[in-house]
Amino acid sequence: MKILLHICCGNCALYPFKILISEGHNLTGFWYNPNIHPHDEYNLRLESLNRLSEKWKFDVIHTEKYSPQEYFRIFNIQDEDIQDILNKYPGWSIREDLNPPGRCKRCYGLRLENTARQARQHGFEAFSTTLLISPYQDFQQIAATGRRLAEKHNVLFHLRDYRPYFREAMALSRELGLYRQKYCGCIFSRVERNRKKAKGRDKGY
Ligand code: SF4
Repeated sequence: MKILLHICCGNCALYPFKILISEGHNLTGFWYNPNIHPHDEYNLRLESLNRLSEKWKFDVIHTEKYSPQEYFRIFNIQDEDIQDILNKYPGWSIREDLNPPGRCKRCYGLRLENTARQARQHGFEAFSTTLLISPYQDFQQIAATGRRLAEKHNVLFHLRDYRPYFREAMALSRELGLYRQKYCGCIFSRVERNRKKAKGRDKGY
C-alpha cells in the first residue's frame, strides 16, 4: 500500500518505518509540525529526521516553513497575542481548551488533516502517523481523529499500535545518535515540563 506517514520526529519514525517497509508498503514521510516551539527546537527535530532519512534512504515531503501561527490559530490566539504568550507565559492554563486532552485533540486534528489532504491530493492510498508509537500520546484520540479524517478526505487511515516498540525505538535512537526531545512540542508542553522539573517530578520524556 502507498502510505503517506506523518512524522512527528525521527525517534518515533524508526519502528513504523521498519515495520511497514518490512511488510512491503511503499512509504513516504510527511513533516508537518507547526506545534513545535521554539524555532531552534523545531530545527533540531527536523535536522535529526533529515539525517535519518538520508541514512535510511526514504523521502520526506516538507510543505511548510516554520509557521507556529498555524498552531496558535486553532486556539483563536491572534498573531499579536502570540508574542505575548511566547514572552511572558501568561495564565493560559485557566483556559480549558489550552489544557490536555482538548488541546492535544486539536493538535492531532491540525497535523493529521493536512496529512490526509496531502495524501488524497498526491495519490496515496492511505495516511498514518508516527505519533502512534508514543505512550505519551493519546492513542484512542489519534485513532478517532484518523478515522474521522479518512472519511472526510476519502483516503484510508492506516492504524497500528506501535507502542510496544517504544523502548526498543528509543534504544535504537540512542544507537543512531538521533536528537531526543525533552517535551512533546508546543509551548504549553514545554512550560508544563519545566514546572514539573522545578518541582522535581520530571521523569523525562
Ligand atoms: S502536548 Fe503535544 S500533542 Fe498536545 S498540543 Fe502540545 S504538542 Fe500537541
